[in-house]
Amino acid sequence: MTSEATEERRARLVEVYEEASTCVRCPLSETRTKVVFGAGNADADLMFVGEAPGAEEDRQGLPFVGRAGGLLNELLGEIGLSREDVFIANVLKCRPPGNRDPQPLEIESCRPYLFEQARLIEPRVVCTLGNFATKLLSGSPTGITKVRGTPQVKALGDRTVFLFPLLHPAAALRTPAMADTLREDFAKLPDLLSGPLPDPPEPPAGNAGEGEEGPSKPPRDDQLDMFG
Ligand code: URA
Repeated sequence: MTSEATEERRARLVEVYEEASTCVRCPLSETRTKVVFGAGNADADLMFVGEAPGAEEDRQGLPFVGRAGGLLNELLGEIGLSREDVFIANVLKCRPPGNRDPQPLEIESCRPYLFEQARLIEPRVVCTLGNFATKLLSGSPTGITKVRGTPQVKALGDRTVFLFPLLHPAAALRTPAMADTLREDFAKLPDLLSGPLPDPPEPPAGNAGEGEEGPSKPPRDDQLDMFG
């Protein structure tokens, strides 16, 4: 049984998807094949945020369908989860040519989509995969190797979540020691997911919390079954 609020959030997510699928906010719209909005359970407790689509993702319009996605599936399986249980998105919805690093303008242009996704899905735990997602969602310039594997309490919209930074699976594919570390950090997820939601973070001395927002609207169909 689904609550009305759940249905409303899902409908709004479809609207955001429709807006993103024709997005021309940055020059990546000129080189992409497909927008990779994200996919999975629209009501997931666990959300993953990667960096940007690669060649295979750009071709299929789905996140993490290449080799890094294979490792992600394997690690999920080891903790008793599957892709249908989680929602997976990226910092960028369009592939940077040649898989180069995301540029600041691209991150800023795409950021409202990601924050609106996280607001609507209402996850308990958001796993950031690698440096770009971690820096964007933590609001801190500290790199992934320093912060990985330790949950952070973060305000996301009007909710509080655990942000759980992880090494990027693509890095783990290149370096076996990193795969071990990623696996160890994944093993911490079940406890994080089953525990109570965190208390709100301490407000920074002075005033306002860091970055959340929410934009978006318009129309279209097809990959709607991307949202379970
Ligand atoms: N595939 C994605 O969708 N995102 C990444 O960050 C890497 C591979």
